[in-house]
Amino acid sequence: MTIDVPDTVSRVLVLSGPSGSGKSTIVDRLLADSGVSVREAVSATTRSPRPTEVDGKDYYFLSQEEFSQKQQRGEFVECAEVHGVGDWYGTLATEIQLAHDENAWALLEIDVEGALAVMDHYPDALTIFLLAPSMEEYRRRLESRGTESQDAIERRIGTAEGEVQRADRYRYQVVNDDLDRAVREITEILLAWEEKIHA
Ligand code: ADP
Ligand code: 5GP
Repeated sequence: MTIDVPDTVSRVLVLSGPSGSGKSTIVDRLLADSGVSVREAVSATTRSPRPTEVDGKDYYFLSQEEFSQKQQRGEFVECAEVHGVGDWYGTLATEIQLAHDENAWALLEIDVEGALAVMDHYPDALTIFLLAPSMEEYRRRLESRGTESQDAIERRIGTAEGEVQRADRYRYQVVNDDLDRAVREITEILLAWEEKIHA
């Protein structure tokens, strides 16, 4: 595979894709063994934690009021209401700074609206849109993950269609068919960009 890398690069990796495309699974793999120093930017959200989620690790879980205070103080690089049910999500500027202080890539797992705002802020960001091999596969994966109600799954599938239409705004589109293959493809892209930084 030939990887087209721009002349200037920012150590900001944006990963988007419909719910169920496999973002979290792939992020875990990249953090564990990509061979490149990567630090996940922990997002803030107003949604409630799932039973296994830990505050400060999976998200900073904030009340609506705490979230809008941060928004008013300009602490977010971007923020958006995702899935249209009143849940807000945002990337804190301090999280990107923390990664860069460690000479690491800041990895942002965010929705398309947020990603477009980050692209304005960091035009040299590495942006990847992750896809499942078919629309039916999103539903299958969300049902097998079992963390959402049927209603929430339907909303997420509804959001997916609009998101997929904007996949071409990203520098790379990766199909997560076979997990190992998709992780390898993303790792190769990341390594090519890292090489450019050291060139
Ligand atoms: P997202 O973070 O994009 O919502 P997840 O990483 O939670 O997606 O993945 C959704 C579900 O699909 C999980 O149960 C995960 O184990 C499973 N999954 C991830 N990648 C694959 C794959 N390549 N093939 C089959 N199932 C997968
Ligand atoms: P979940 O509720 O499943 O954790 O995440 C729902 C959606 O919110 C996902 O599509 C995820 O990419 C997006 N998301 C998570 N963090 C952020 C963020 O900081 N900003 C934006 N814009 N979207 C986010």
